[in-house]
Amino acid sequence: MIDMEECMQLIAREKAECPPGSKLWKVAPIQGRQLLDVNPEHLLNDGLYRKCDCKTAGGGYDHFPEIGEDLTGIRCRHQFVVQLYGCHLDCPYCYVTRDGVFGESVYVSSKSIIEAFKKSKMDVLHLMGGAPALYMSDWHDIKELVPDNKVFTSDLLLTECEYDKGVIDRLNRMYNSVYAVNIKGLTDEEYKANTGRDIDWGLFWRNMDKIMDSYLAFYFTFTNVEKGAALEAFRERISKDYGSYRLSRSFHIDIIQYKALQAPREVK
Ligand code: SF4
Repeated sequence: MIDMEECMQLIAREKAECPPGSKLWKVAPIQGRQLLDVNPEHLLNDGLYRKCDCKTAGGGYDHFPEIGEDLTGIRCRHQFVVQLYGCHLDCPYCYVTRDGVFGESVYVSSKSIIEAFKKSKMDVLHLMGGAPALYMSDWHDIKELVPDNKVFTSDLLLTECEYDKGVIDRLNRMYNSVYAVNIKGLTDEEYKANTGRDIDWGLFWRNMDKIMDSYLAFYFTFTNVEKGAALEAFRERISKDYGSYRLSRSFHIDIIQYKALQAPREVK
C-alpha cells in the first residue's frame, strides 16, 4: 500500500527521470483488470488511450455533457481519456484498479497526446487518473495545445498535495476548461471508508479556498457520500463562505459494481 508522501516521491522521481525536451507525461495504458469493464472498441492507439461516451458510460450517471456544454458552449459528450500514473488514494470501488493506477506506464509528449486527440475526433480531452492533480503544475502545457473548439477537463480531489495558487491563476486564464472537484467523504470515517486513507481537513479546506478564490469553471461530485448532516453542513459552509451558486451543478455518484471489483485487488 502506498501513502501520499510515497506517491509524491514516486512521481517526482519519475518526472526527474524524464528525458529533457518537451513535456512528457507518465501515462498508464488501459490494462489489467480494468479491461474487464472497457469496451475493446473504445481503446485507442493500441490501448494507450480510450474514448468514452459520457451519456452511456457507467449507466449514464455522468452529467459532464450538460455541465461542460453549459459552461463552454461546446459539445462535451465524447471524451478522449488519458490515464495518468499514480494516486494517493486507495478507493475500494476503484474501477481503474491498481493495474491501471500503478501498472505499466510509458512517457508520452503533450504534442503526441494532442495529435492522437485530434485524430480521435472526440469533443473533450480528459486528463484522468489516478489523481491527475498530482500533475496540475503541468496541465497548462497540454491545455495550450487543445484546439479552441474543444474542451479540456481534469479532476481535483483537494487532498493530493498543497495546491499552488500561481498554477491555479495560470489555469484561470485558459478558456474552454471544466474541472470536476471530487468529494469522497465528509467525515473522517466516511473518507477513510471511501478512499482507504485518512483525510487532512486542513489541506482540504486550504485547497478549497484556492480554487474558490479563482475563476476556474468547476463543479462538485460527491462519490458515495451520505445525504445527511455532514453533507448539509458542507453545503451550508460552501454557501456561506463562497456562495450557493458554487453548488449549483453538483451531483452524486453512487458506487457501480464494475466487473473489475470482483477480481483480486493486488497489482499483477
Ligand atoms: S481516486 Fe480514483 S484512481 Fe485513485 S484510487 Fe480512488 S477511484 Fe481509484
